[in-house]
Amino acid sequence: MTLQDRLDAVERRLQAACARSGRSREEVRIIAVTKYVGTATVLEALRCGIRHLGENRWQQAEPKWRAISGPDAAADYAVQAVWHFIGSLQSNKVKDVIDKFTYIHSLDRMSLAQAIDRHAARLGIVVPCFVQVNVSGEQSKHGLAPEETEHFLKELAAFRSIRPIGLMTMAPHEEDPEATRPVFRQLRLLRDELNARSATAEPLTELSMGMSNDFEIAVEEGATWIRLGTVLVGKEEV
Ligand SMILES: *Cc1c(COP(=O)(O)O)cnc(C)c1O
Repeated sequence: MTLQDRLDAVERRLQAACARSGRSREEVRIIAVTKYVGTATVLEALRCGIRHLGENRWQQAEPKWRAISGPDAAADYAVQAVWHFIGSLQSNKVKDVIDKFTYIHSLDRMSLAQAIDRHAARLGIVVPCFVQVNVSGEQSKHGLAPEETEHFLKELAAFRSIRPIGLMTMAPHEEDPEATRPVFRQLRLLRDELNARSATAEPLTELSMGMSNDFEIAVEEGATWIRLGTVLVGKEEV
């Protein structure tokens, strides 16, 4: 199967999930998670019309970012690609990614917020961020506990160069994707509750949730960004 075939298959499943849940297809955007693949495949994805690229480590992302969006990259790709940082981020790595990734999906602590705000202010930019929430409570997962989120968002209001736009979560891997539904539903309800309580100056509109194994369930539960690696771009030895 070519990447275009896989994209077509994902698109059909995504449209069906939107139809089942009475949502419009335009409400959901796809991030191609390219951490498992090399530059050639990322370029192929861009040729298929994919625009949003997700990476979880700068070290792995760097050669691809340079080829596609770096100073020497072909201009048409640089214009097209929008980079999303989706992995856990060390504060001392913020300086590497801040001017290259438009969105950060993994904001989960004050020390990281301070680092993002400081570097963004220096560059004169405002960074749209997702606050990562550990809904499932698994030890291995990053993110705030749901009950800590409101307090965290209120503290974030002090940072002029961070714009919280939504919440992000990762569901546990389940054999039966249906089992992930409560996690996604809880993230949506938390977002709605935070908005009802005006936890942020602007309502949180976005939900970054759903991966290869469970994206249809996430879409049915309100995802606005799905992060697709294996099912879309595959997995290579890189
Ligand atoms: C790797 C990764 C994905 C994509 O994983 P797949 O299961 O291959 O779709 C999505 N989100 C995050 C945070 C990831 O690290």
